[in-house]
Amino acid sequence: MNVAVVLFTCDLRLHDHPPLRAALAGGRQVVPLFVRDPAVDRAGFAAPNRLAFLADCLRDLDAGLRERGGRLVVRHGDTVEEVCRVAAETDAAEVHLAAEVSAFGQRRERRLRGALEAQGRALHVHDAVTTAVPPGAVTPASSGHFAVFTPYFRRWSQQTLRGPLAAPRAVPVPDGPASEPLPSREKLSGVAPALAPGGEGEGRRRLAGWLRTGVTAYADRHDDLAGDGTSRLSPHLHFGTLSPVEIVHRARRRGGPGAEAFVRQLAWRDFHRQVLFARPAAAHADYRSRDDRWRSGRAAAEDAEAWRQGRTGHPVVDAAMRQLLHEGWMHNRGRLLVASFLTKTLYIDWRVGAEHFLRHLVDGDLANNQLNWQWVAGTGTDTRPNRVLSPVAQGRRLDPDGAYVRRWLPELADALDAAGVTGAAVHEPWKLPESVRERSGYPAPVVGLADGLARFRQARGLE
Ligand SMILES: Cc1cc2nc3c(=O)[nH]c(=O)nc-3n(C[C@H](O)[C@H](O)[C@H](O)COP(=O)(O)OP(=O)(O)OC[C@H]3O[C@@H](n4cnc5c(N)ncnc54)[C@H](O)[C@@H]3O)c2cc1C
Repeated sequence: MNVAVVLFTCDLRLHDHPPLRAALAGGRQVVPLFVRDPAVDRAGFAAPNRLAFLADCLRDLDAGLRERGGRLVVRHGDTVEEVCRVAAETDAAEVHLAAEVSAFGQRRERRLRGALEAQGRALHVHDAVTTAVPPGAVTPASSGHFAVFTPYFRRWSQQTLRGPLAAPRAVPVPDGPASEPLPSREKLSGVAPALAPGGEGEGRRRLAGWLRTGVTAYADRHDDLAGDGTSRLSPHLHFGTLSPVEIVHRARRRGGPGAEAFVRQLAWRDFHRQVLFARPAAAHADYRSRDDRWRSGRAAAEDAEAWRQGRTGHPVVDAAMRQLLHEGWMHNRGRLLVASFLTKTLYIDWRVGAEHFLRHLVDGDLANNQLNWQWVAGTGTDTRPNRVLSPVAQGRRLDPDGAYVRRWLPELADALDAAGVTGAAVHEPWKLPESVRERSGYPAPVVGLADGLARFRQARGLE
């Protein structure tokens, strides 16, 4: 038996891919396998934006394999059954895959190990494929995981990362294993109009461009909503078309304050993964309960819907929500603002917001999404759980000339232009003359900021 199966999951690339390199060692033939598993879809993956990005990634992976004499085998069904079937068809001695962090992934890994061992085959699970530092690699003396980022980051920074691996020159695939057709983006409906393209080639081009020009100004520009000064690498990290280990190495080699600040954000990604790995229930349950009795009922449902549509009457919140619907992506500062607005100003359960994000975000990711939502809601790892972000103050700071709001709220921008109103006045439309407000058709605020703040403080027992 001189065949190995490589199961691709959230690591859809050929560069710096430890499972693929290990499988190829000793001259083995390899079956590169991807399984479309209905259980993954049912668990919340099947959002049109992510399916579209995935289709690009699989197409690109297949093309990269074909350039190396191989091809991608795609199957549809239960992952464990399909891997075992392909392993039996090709008489593979071993299966390689990247370690998983979610409860779902860990369960699947255990089932797979059991099923393969029953067939006399070995499962090899590889760390540091989807993270730079694997969950559990650094732990505090007192517990199994870090609950605070700063001490985690100190230890994370001291870790020696493995060296990045080159893409293999050849990937010999045995004759035989049939593949279903690759999924196609064109057949999907509900995809965001301006969704970014996926695939390893696209990811590598974006990374190279980012390191060449963008990253230098990152420390100064990453909070500028209109300037769009972040890497937009998150979908590539989510689908693993780029390796976090390789990105950290290359950013460190680039050096400078921008690259350092960028690497720190990558550590946030690993931080959330080690929390979820240790506390899988945090995907759905409060990490630290604040005994919230979130608003429910009709008024709350209407407020949540206005939030989803970008019609809360608070311009910077609405602009960010509309960016999400248009691009399937949102600026980090926008995410912080809209999440604070939903959970604190509107006092609506973070799970309502997290679900909407997961329905639309192309980078929608259980660890990053749920734990960032919890961080903002104050039920997670933030050491200041009751801070509330004011859309007006934040808008003035992060979008001082209103360019971001004007880009995403054209009805408001047009009415302001017609009235000759410029600059940061856009962040407080309720102060504009009534004729301008009426002309715009832009909604009145669903809640005043002071009222929202008072309601939140009372609910959290801070009054
Ligand atoms: C409420 C909320 C929900 C979020 N949901 C997601 C999500 O589903 N998927 C996701 O990848 N990120 C999520 N984030 C984190 C962050 O907003 C995005 O990673 C970032 O905006 C992606 O843009 P970028 O690639 O240009 O980031 P950059 O600023 O260029 O950062 C580089 C990379 O660092 C990582 N990163 C940056 N900020 C964070 C952070 N706060 N937490 C964890 N990792 C981070 C990402 O992988 C990102 O691609 C969420 C943040 C909030 C506040």
